[in-house]
Amino acid sequence: MQTGQADIAIIGAGPAGAHLASRLAAEGRDVVLFDPKGAWEKPCGGGVPTRAIREFAFLLENSNYPRKLVRRITMISPLERRVTLTLDEPFAVYSRQVLNGLVLDRAIEAGARFVRDGVSDFTRERDGWLISTNQGERWRANFLVGADGAASFARRRLIGIFPKQDLALAFGYNIECADESPASNGNGSQRGGPSMDEVVVRFPRDFTGYLWAFPRPGVMNFGVASKLGERTSDELRTLLTDFVRGYYNGHMPEAERVTFFGAKIPTLDFASWKELRASGDSWALVGDAAGFADPITGEGIYYAFKSADLLADALRDKGMRGDAPYASSNGSRNGYNEAAASYEGRWREEFGRDLEHASYRLPHFYHGRFFGRIFTDAMIMLARHHRGVRTILGRALVGEQSYATLKRDLLRRAWQVF
Ligand SMILES: Cc1cc2nc3c(=O)[nH]c(=O)nc-3n(C[C@H](O)[C@H](O)[C@H](O)COP(=O)(O)OP(=O)(O)OC[C@H]3O[C@@H](n4cnc5c(N)ncnc54)[C@H](O)[C@@H]3O)c2cc1C
Repeated sequence: MQTGQADIAIIGAGPAGAHLASRLAAEGRDVVLFDPKGAWEKPCGGGVPTRAIREFAFLLENSNYPRKLVRRITMISPLERRVTLTLDEPFAVYSRQVLNGLVLDRAIEAGARFVRDGVSDFTRERDGWLISTNQGERWRANFLVGADGAASFARRRLIGIFPKQDLALAFGYNIECADESPASNGNGSQRGGPSMDEVVVRFPRDFTGYLWAFPRPGVMNFGVASKLGERTSDELRTLLTDFVRGYYNGHMPEAERVTFFGAKIPTLDFASWKELRASGDSWALVGDAAGFADPITGEGIYYAFKSADLLADALRDKGMRGDAPYASSNGSRNGYNEAAASYEGRWREEFGRDLEHASYRLPHFYHGRFFGRIFTDAMIMLARHHRGVRTILGRALVGEQSYATLKRDLLRRAWQVF
């Protein structure tokens, strides 16, 4: 049985884990990254918001990793009202296999060791951790990071699973198609689609969530997400299938072009943010494992990268390195604990408060009223008539409008309309 040693062990090589590994390895840290799947087609829309592209420039630097850049977003209200927004800067849509491959390749190039194996167990040992894998390897590390997604094993062992009210359930289809395929359309653009250069978001009535259609290179990604327990799986699948049929003359495309997927997304309840912890004694959680996704949109890729960045910054600034790969001096442990505490403050400051605010706004966003109308319908109606409202909506869609000021900003613009 092989026993390896590393300074920092990361469980999960999705955007959060692989980006963290590449940052740490580039700074000369000794990192091991575990994932049984490597780069894979994780159930996801693959929409990477403008803000993420801007902050993480490496995403668009290498054209070997194809993605679709999208500037047009059509939003459809519960009352069938629609508006199309044209964004000043595009956002990107990736196949998740491609996106994960991009980040994992960078981590390996930077010097991180990648172990294609799942972590089956970990225990505390002296000042660090003893980690076991599915295939029977054992590793020792000073600091442990859980980056293993919404169903995180690390989270379960360290602080417990997400309660039901902190999760959304999502289903989707990836449907292969020629990039400019002609087909009939009942959902998106009026021209006849599916349009391969336009995102469509539809808000069903009395529904805490939405349906989407995202064009990727050679694939249309359709999905639906809603608060876990609000609708049954069958109800969600029916909604989704009807939405997809609207694009294809009322029929589902041939089975060989269609892949179905389902997964959970952390969408934390307002009350959960106060108690949320993402780190402790020589450990930290990043990305979905920490609960970092937008509760209103389910968007988590930006927060996966951002939380990884913040933890890397904290480890750089506070985490002391021992001389040996598996250093066990008290100094090292204190340094890691300072880093963990510093990370806790950083994520809350950088995005935690805004996500908490989003949770507070969520019931109003999906079920509230604005000028006597369903909120999303009023938003879309105002956007049709007022450029200022379109700007705010566009900024919200690409992740640049703070939730704390969304209602105030919309109200200001709405008064101008009236
Ligand atoms: C249907 C759906 C649609 C979505 N659409 C979007 C979208 O369009 N835009 C957006 O921003 N976000 C979207 N999200 C959210 C987004 O997918 C996540 O927020 C993002 O992938 C989080 O990245 P992560 O690295 O934290 O976790 P993940 O991407 O889930 O990666 C976790 C990794 O850990 C590995 N792992 C799990 N267990 C172990 C183990 N025991 N040992 C080792 N490795 C392990 C897994 O194999 C996986 O590779 C969507 C989510 C869903 C479910």
